[in-house]
Amino acid sequence: MSLSDRDAPDADETVDEPPTGPATLVTKSAPAHTAPPTRTLKSFRQRVTSLAPARPAAVPATTGPAATAGLSPNDVIVVQRVVKTYALGDIEVHALQGVSLTIERGDFVAIMGASGSGKSTLMNILGCLDLPTKGRYFLDGVDVRGMTEDELSDVRNRKIGFVFQSFNLIPRTEAIVNVELPLIYGGLRHKGDRRKRAERAMIAVGLAERLHHLPSELSGGQQQRVAVARAIATNPAMILADEPTGNLDTTATHEVMEIFGRLNADGRTVVMITHEDDVAAHAKRVIRLVDGQIVDDHRQGPVQGPPPRYHAPTAIEAAAHHAARSTI
Ligand code: ADP
Ligand code: MG
Repeated sequence: MSLSDRDAPDADETVDEPPTGPATLVTKSAPAHTAPPTRTLKSFRQRVTSLAPARPAAVPATTGPAATAGLSPNDVIVVQRVVKTYALGDIEVHALQGVSLTIERGDFVAIMGASGSGKSTLMNILGCLDLPTKGRYFLDGVDVRGMTEDELSDVRNRKIGFVFQSFNLIPRTEAIVNVELPLIYGGLRHKGDRRKRAERAMIAVGLAERLHHLPSELSGGQQQRVAVARAIATNPAMILADEPTGNLDTTATHEVMEIFGRLNADGRTVVMITHEDDVAAHAKRVIRLVDGQIVDDHRQGPVQGPPPRYHAPTAIEAAAHHAARSTI
């Protein structure tokens, strides 16, 4: 049984959508070609941590800006000539200098580059945590410039699972409760359903025995696996990870990459920033940034199918996993 099957939403729940399948083309009430609103990263971050339930999803449509921009429904990320300039007092920092990038559904992309090359800036834009200074970004066919803050918040919650280098778990809060948080933000009100969903995510990352541990009682690798469980609890189509193994030792790095490999083999799109060649070797495609520009983009494996270093679980491992599930 695949992860996507295990996480399939119950009939009475509306917060999720399957990780694969036809593109959801979404249109907005406001026209897409308005000037970018002057919103700050801070306000977006506040949104991410806001407890307010997300607004209902925008209305799906097969017409609108996506159709006029000639996008393929299989392109989950389309970045066109994106520029990001930060103002630091009188100085302008050109973090991204005309990045164009298309990522297909089901791909596993590693973004590499030296410190300061613009990787996190790009990731923040892909995750709708920040807006480009110039250029366009279509997420699942929708131009993010035309979205309201509520719509952006809703998209982040439903479509994207975030994983950060420093785990970002809430201290003095049980692992399982950390994993439940995005389900609360997503408006899943039924406590039992939330717990069940969070437990499944914890099982998927191999932490069925650690549900009630505090972050401080877990190793770095385990904490990052809790963070991955939190990212997949809402069953998002896409995982965005900014140096997810940056604080981990070799063994924990291997465990976390196995999990990313499985999530991708199950159909989720994964975009991951990394410094390490060994980590990038797990991806199907590697993009290299220098000074805010893409200088290399090569493929290591086909978009469809499992990623290069992925080893499907053996029958014994699958049976053990199944047994662990049935004990909860
Ligand atoms: P990377 O993740 O590759 O290390 P970043 O995207 O964090 O790179 O940064 C790219 C450039 O933009 C760097 O020169 C960095 O100092 C600058 N930068 C990043 N965020 C900000 C910000 N909020 N304000 C000003 N400059 C920034
Ligand atoms: Mg960075």
